[in-house]
Amino acid sequence: MTTAAAGGPRTYQVRTYGCQMNVHDSERISGLLEQAGYVRAGEAEDTPDVVVFNTCAVRENADNRLYGNLGHLRPVKNRHPGMQIAVGGCLAQKDRGDIVRRAPWVDVVFGTHNIGSLPVLLERARHNAAAEVEILEALDVFPSTLPTRRESTYAGWVSISVGCNNTCTFCIVPSLRGREKDRRPGDILSEVRALVDEGVLEVTLLGQNVNSYGVEFGDRYAFGKLLRACGEIDGLERVRFTSPHPKDFTDDVIAAMAETPNVCPSLHMPLQSGSDDVLRAMRRSYRSEKYLGIIEKVRAAMPDAAITTDIIVGFPGETEADFERTLDVVREARFASAFTFQYSKRPGTPAASMDGQLPKQVVQERYERLIACVEEITWAENKKLVGETVEVLVAVGEGRKDERTGRLSGRARDGRLVHFATGAAGELGDAGSIRPGDIVHTTITYAAPHHLNADGAPLSHRRTRAGDAAEAGRSPRTPGVLLGLPTIGAPAPVPAPTTGCAVSP
Ligand code: SF4
Repeated sequence: MTTAAAGGPRTYQVRTYGCQMNVHDSERISGLLEQAGYVRAGEAEDTPDVVVFNTCAVRENADNRLYGNLGHLRPVKNRHPGMQIAVGGCLAQKDRGDIVRRAPWVDVVFGTHNIGSLPVLLERARHNAAAEVEILEALDVFPSTLPTRRESTYAGWVSISVGCNNTCTFCIVPSLRGREKDRRPGDILSEVRALVDEGVLEVTLLGQNVNSYGVEFGDRYAFGKLLRACGEIDGLERVRFTSPHPKDFTDDVIAAMAETPNVCPSLHMPLQSGSDDVLRAMRRSYRSEKYLGIIEKVRAAMPDAAITTDIIVGFPGETEADFERTLDVVREARFASAFTFQYSKRPGTPAASMDGQLPKQVVQERYERLIACVEEITWAENKKLVGETVEVLVAVGEGRKDERTGRLSGRARDGRLVHFATGAAGELGDAGSIRPGDIVHTTITYAAPHHLNADGAPLSHRRTRAGDAAEAGRSPRTPGVLLGLPTIGAPAPVPAPTTGCAVSP
């Protein structure tokens, strides 16, 4: 039985696929539904009243997965009259009415530009007992105007832009998210302040291409200015951003990173390929020399910066020599970690119909060599930190083995994952009560390719308001007031991410 059928409030569940953009959009979907009176279905809830799929069109076979999942829900819905299913996100934007043709038991289809319509569409579908499909071609309101139910007490995403003006040939994002829309700097900073007021310590500025932030209102230095403005916010301890595009990376951003103490010494900058010919075919208009030049400048300004990246292997036409060039750049760049992807066709992208598609076996073999190369380097880089003291923001869900090992986990300022021992209870005064959102200092005792361990007792433990909120089970909510689409003559700065960018391929 659903909760509503039992006389309680209608419950919802959101299932999210894809990139950080989608994860943040799902926070907005939850916020909207809760504002409309829905409550989140509990873990043990067998049948939510509303199930929302926030889909991704970037991955191969995304549609098969969606229709498979919808198929599993069909008999559940049949057994529970009144239950509703909604499909949103990039795949909904792409497939539109096809979704209700292929799965007529779906009640609502909404796109990436009209998340805010979901409660009304659910209501209308219920009232009319017919499916509602509403897809807009452009944003009606900037998504950050929407109420948001934040998943984390200590870290929050803040969109600075949506959409992308680039045309990378492997990417479906521009056609589904539209051209870049920059949010006004004042609105972004208001949202950051609202989060900090709720106890959040870390924000990640999010855009498909943060370095082009300001393109809409004619200020190419807007992103650096935005970083500096974040530096003025009391209580904001960590600022991150994702993802920058090498083509638009300007020196003022490096200076802003280095000179703004709360901007973390970490940079995630997608490489995609080390071969200039492949970059050209990908229509990514920087070359490996420019990419390595940015890294050199970042390291000169911030010697401890951890640089991470995304790499696609097996792009159509990639030769063994092209691939070797990627390995060369990986060795030279000395990444702290790399998200590696095997190229696979995404319907609707130019690369899907290019000549020179590589056999799976060639892609697999190169992929394995790439991983071995990346791991050798990330391990060597991580080993340099053994014996160093790091500041860790304690996280939830970062350490799968924590329960067994008695450790907690979190991220260092440079973004590295640290699993740390909590020490004997009482050793630090209150060491037994380290909570997600608290800050500890600890010394690294062991390095692995993808994480660090700190097995001595922490050197310090600071209880924070984020930790208090986590302990009390409160999550930050931002109402979205004061936030809006940029207007003519908007002043200052900011942009955001996806894969490959803020969105991974
Ligand atoms: S990969 Fe990134 S920069 Fe390229 S088109 Fe996609 S979103 Fe834009």
